[in-house]
Amino acid sequence: MRDGVPRTGVGRTRAYLGRCRVEDVWRCRERFGGVTLQGMVGLRIARALDRAGELHGVDLDPAVYRNRPVPAATAQLTLPGLDCAPFDWVAAQAELGLPVVRTAGARIRVGRVDELRAELARSYPVAVSVVLALDAGWLGRRHIDALEEALRAADRDVSLLFAAAYNPLDTVVKIESFRRLLRWAAGAHRDIELLRTDLTALPAVIEGATVAAIGFSTSTRHLGIPFGPRQREAFNRRRRSPLVFVPRLLHWQRANVLGALAAWDGAGVTYCECPVCARAGHDLLRFDTIPAELEHEVRDHDEHALAMVIDQIMAATDPAAELKFRRTNAVQRGRSIAAALDVGLDSPPAWLDGWN
Ligand SMILES: [Zn+2]
Repeated sequence: MRDGVPRTGVGRTRAYLGRCRVEDVWRCRERFGGVTLQGMVGLRIARALDRAGELHGVDLDPAVYRNRPVPAATAQLTLPGLDCAPFDWVAAQAELGLPVVRTAGARIRVGRVDELRAELARSYPVAVSVVLALDAGWLGRRHIDALEEALRAADRDVSLLFAAAYNPLDTVVKIESFRRLLRWAAGAHRDIELLRTDLTALPAVIEGATVAAIGFSTSTRHLGIPFGPRQREAFNRRRRSPLVFVPRLLHWQRANVLGALAAWDGAGVTYCECPVCARAGHDLLRFDTIPAELEHEVRDHDEHALAMVIDQIMAATDPAAELKFRRTNAVQRGRSIAAALDVGLDSPPAWLDGWN
């Protein structure tokens, strides 16, 4: 709740931009209605936009949680006698008049309740949303009660993002835990945001998140943590081909896997009606053989197709029902292809059939 105004209706999805240029901000703001910028580069862009009177629809994730904690000893080693204060992210955002002022944020390892409480207890001169970069393990059965209790006791607006090697919401238990947090926020009239996510943004805002910011690369769809050796091997095998958002599966697949569906004419999932694909025959199969210099076309398709799917679902009379219908379809399509054809299609992410 801001300025005493109670929240109404569903929240809003927006684009989450990591490393980017000002043109990306213009384009994504147009396509998604708003963008969340990241870190110091994001702040510089926000200041440039502000000077041009063009800052609307922009907010910032300081993303300081990305950095490894600096050992206390080395932090003092800059110049003897010179106190090197941490950058004041809250003041920087407040000066720009951003619609939400987010704290620098801290990565909080699973189970460290004292650190969580301390982060939630910090005071600031202006109203803020407290950024919490939480290990996905907080959403497990052992830790969710403590997390919810800390949020309840602190009674503040929060911006959450989750750290995991792959998908932080990879089980029904974690999905249900996240939904508990959404219910807490609704009951407490608090703003809850989900930063760095995928299309999970949709059910999140439908169920009460004020903002959910979607990333266009695996590194901005959650906070990555180092892989184990087996995960690393699988990752290296897969990375050779770009990920492509597949509207009919509501998720991303490798371009080479989509290409393998050519023998079955795309198996009913490679059709895309976005404007980028409309100019090229409507078929995602083409990305399998796309030359490297055209890889930006994949990103262009991703943005258009994601924005289109979001707009269509949110414009439905009953967005929750529309999303459920499409989720069911996506899961069935994905599963029947996987059962019939050995092409290495990624299985549907848990939220598609686990968010019930
Ligand atoms: Zn497309």
